[in-house]
Parts: sequence; structure tokens; C-alpha cells
Amino acid sequence: MELQTLDTLFLGNKAAVGAFLMNTQEGPALFETGPASSLEGLKAGLLGAGVSPQDVRHVFVTHVHLDHAGAAWWFAEHGAKVYAHPKAASHLVQPERLWSSVKRLYGGMAEELWGEIRPIPEDRVKTLQDKERVSLGDVQIVALDTPGHAVHHLAYFIDGAIVCGDIGGVRYGKKGPAVPPCPPPDIHVEDWVRSIDTLAALNPSVLFLTHFGPFTDTKEHLASLKDRLLRFERFIQKGLEDGLDPDTLKEQFENAFRQEFHALGLDEATCTLYERINPPWTNVLGLVRYIQKKPKGEQPKDA
Ligand SMILES: [Zn+2]
Repeated sequence: MELQTLDTLFLGNKAAVGAFLMNTQEGPALFETGPASSLEGLKAGLLGAGVSPQDVRHVFVTHVHLDHAGAAWWFAEHGAKVYAHPKAASHLVQPERLWSSVKRLYGGMAEELWGEIRPIPEDRVKTLQDKERVSLGDVQIVALDTPGHAVHHLAYFIDGAIVCGDIGGVRYGKKGPAVPPCPPPDIHVEDWVRSIDTLAALNPSVLFLTHFGPFTDTKEHLASLKDRLLRFERFIQKGLEDGLDPDTLKEQFENAFRQEFHALGLDEATCTLYERINPPWTNVLGLVRYIQKKPKGEQPKDA
């Protein structure tokens, strides 16, 4: 089994949004597609790996956020089967609601960022339950129900490796920190922590992050992701308790985010990439929503 990391070159950014290719006895399988806006970048990546894009037979998406599954419709139109979480299927088949929530979040920028979105015929979508296996020749892909970032999120366990989607965080460069992307509307910190524990319990040899690439220090990565997620939650919880208005909270979170990155010795370009792919203000919105929905009396736990 070999997974190859492809760069979609999202909005001209190198190594920001990835997809993963696996050649199987049942044809090329793709994990994640990036958004439709970077379809040409992905096609070039496939061609570079010796695969004609229209020959891709299997597309596994971790969740329907457009930077992960936004180009899946193109592969479905060319005959691929699209695998996803049962709760993701309706968004793939009828993307209108997804698109309006994207528009609410990104406003006039939505189209430029994510490109075109088209419905996928229902008979091209195959939903996978937790721990369900797909055999492609001699390769087995195990779906892992991994909520927390999105209620409809799957990770894929393949021969010791895990394709993580967003549940494994965003990380740029070997020295980059593991950062949880927390956009609205589904963020659920406790579920996310459980999902991290699920991944860690499998003792993976490598984590493939959509943002971006393979990381082999899996234990440290997952521990640090969990720690940062819980810190983010405490930060927002405290801001709300202090009665900060949303703009001040966003500003303080952004500053804290930057300060930590600088303290870790990240260069400016890497900081900017983190902020572009996982905008801090979307983290504030997602975590505020989660905390406000939580039954009263539940406090964030310590790491
Ligand atoms: Zn996502």
C-alpha cells in the first residue's frame, strides 16, 4: 500500500490543501479532492503521478467541507464512486444547503475560494458506517466515524496509516504545530477529543493530513493537537465569561494565535498559511457556538 500526496495548489498556495492517491488492483483511488477551484491543480498532480483524472474509480472524502470534497462531483461525473459518512451523503447529493452556509461564512468570496459546486447522483455515493471495510483488490480501507470537527466526518485507516481529514488538525512543516480547525457549525470538543483518542489507539505509523501531508511523529502530533484544542476552548470560554464582545474576542484570539506561532519560531510565510487555511476568526465562531450550545454547568476539562 502506498499513498502518494498530491498538491492541489489551492489558490496558488503550495502544500496547503492535499489529496492522496493510491493505485489499487481496482483502479486509482483518491482520498480527498480539494475544492473545485483547484481541480486543475489536482488533475495536474494526478497526471504527474501517471494517472488520467477520468480513470479515478474511487473517491473517499473525509467530510463535505469544500476544501476536502468540493471537486468530488467532477470525478463522479467521470464514473467514480464517492465514499462518505452517512450524514454527508445528503450534502453531496443536494449541495444547496451546504452552499448557503458557505456563503453565510465567506460572503462574496465564496465562489472565488471554492469554485463551482454540482450535485452528485445518489447512485454514485456509497455511505460507510463506522469500522466498515472497503476492499480494493488486496487493500483494505476501514472507515472511522470521527466527529468533533464535523458531525459527518470519517477518517480512513489503511494498513497502519490514517487519512485524517480535519480531525487530525492542520500542520505545516515538520516543526509546525498541530492546530485544530474549528469553523461553525459542528464543532464539538468532547467528541473531537474522543476521535483523537480513537486515532491514537490505533497506534498509526503515519498520519496523512489534508493540510498538509504525511507525519510520522503520530503520538506527539495527536497529543499536541488535543492539548491545543482544549486550550482554544478554555480561551474562548474565558473570553465569554469576561463578557468580551465578539470583535474583541476575535482580536484577542488572533493575537494569541500569532504570539504562539512566533514563540514556536515559525516564519512569516508559514504563519500566514496557517491563518489562510484555518482563519482564526472562524475558530472563534465555531467555538463560541459550541460553548453557547453546551448545557450549563459543563466546564472545559484540563488537558
Ligand atoms: Zn473541515
